[in-house]
Amino acid sequence: MELIPREYVALPGGGLKRVYSLVGADGSVILGDHGAWLASRAKRCACGSVCLGSGQTCGSSDCIANLASA
Ligand SMILES: [Zn+2]
Repeated sequence: MELIPREYVALPGGGLKRVYSLVGADGSVILGDHGAWLASRAKRCACGSVCLGSGQTCGSSDCIANLASA
């Protein structure tokens, strides 16, 4: 299993923002938003939304009904 990158950048005012870094094809480092990174890897419901928790759907009643009838 791939390790989740744990990187932060300091924000003005003393906050920290969790990010991840990627090395681009040209060698430059790209910082990405950690939340977006997680979302991009998250399990997707049939409708395309991110699944909730360990569930198989996004939690909407329509999707749950579809799953139950599949
Ligand atoms: Zn859904």
